Amino acid sequence: MLVSGQTLLDEAVRGGYAIGSFNTYNLEITRAILAAAEARRSAVFLAVGSGALDYGGFAPLTQLVLAAAREATVPVAVHLDHSPTVADCERCLSEGFTSLMIDGSNLPFDENVALTWQTVKRAGEIPVEGELGGVGGDEDSSGAQETAIPMTDPAQARAFVEQTGVASLAIAIGNAHGIYKGEPKLDFDRLAALRDAVPAPLVLHGASGLSDDDLRRAISLGVRKINVNTEIRQTLFGSLDRSLEQGVKGYDVTRLFGVAMEAMQRTVEEKIEVFSGSPSFSS
Ligand SMILES: [Zn+2]
Repeated sequence: MLVSGQTLLDEAVRGGYAIGSFNTYNLEITRAILAAAEARRSAVFLAVGSGALDYGGFAPLTQLVLAAAREATVPVAVHLDHSPTVADCERCLSEGFTSLMIDGSNLPFDENVALTWQTVKRAGEIPVEGELGGVGGDEDSSGAQETAIPMTDPAQARAFVEQTGVASLAIAIGNAHGIYKGEPKLDFDRLAALRDAVPAPLVLHGASGLSDDDLRRAISLGVRKINVNTEIRQTLFGSLDRSLEQGVKGYDVTRLFGVAMEAMQRTVEEKIEVFSGSPSFSS
């Protein structure tokens, strides 16, 4: 069922766990994510970014993810990831998205506040995620990344949330998109300070490549939404490589992608298990 992202954030705050936000680009990834959520009886954010919308076509991809979310037997929020503009947010709002992210993190503080505040005002009841500090790397492709600089400052983060009214805040504590170069090192003292300072749930991007222990520790320190993208794509490519190497009889598309979907489902289920620790929706 399609639900507001606010419902999921509220549940996560109440339960002291994190909701997974998984990025999709197409039918197969969408179905794998939702199959995992249903298998684990867990709510999820189904996230699409601008790169995915350009690739899939705005109408085809938005209609696909919304239809899949409505049909799911667990709560699903359809989320716009890393929107650079208010206009993109408005377009997704009018399609029926139930969660938005506006990313002004590369702007000076005051401009980020202005852009984010404007989005929150337009979004009305729909929750908006803002970002402060820099999460390194590219969301859609995964070369080796430096870890994030600069990290989010707790006092500034508090002011940002108060001035913009965001429902959640993406933070930079050493996390990065894509593949980590060397061992990732999260600044947990900073995370604890952010949790104490910021009056909104915290979001961790770039979870692919972080250890389960680091993820659990981040959740224990107040992270309530965790974004995963790269690891699903790695699983997809790995599966396709293996299948093509072995040869798929009769150029069978359903076999080739069916095997890949099962593999992606397992990857997403593993993450959900770490994130949820594990409250389930039993209808
Ligand atoms: Zn991100």
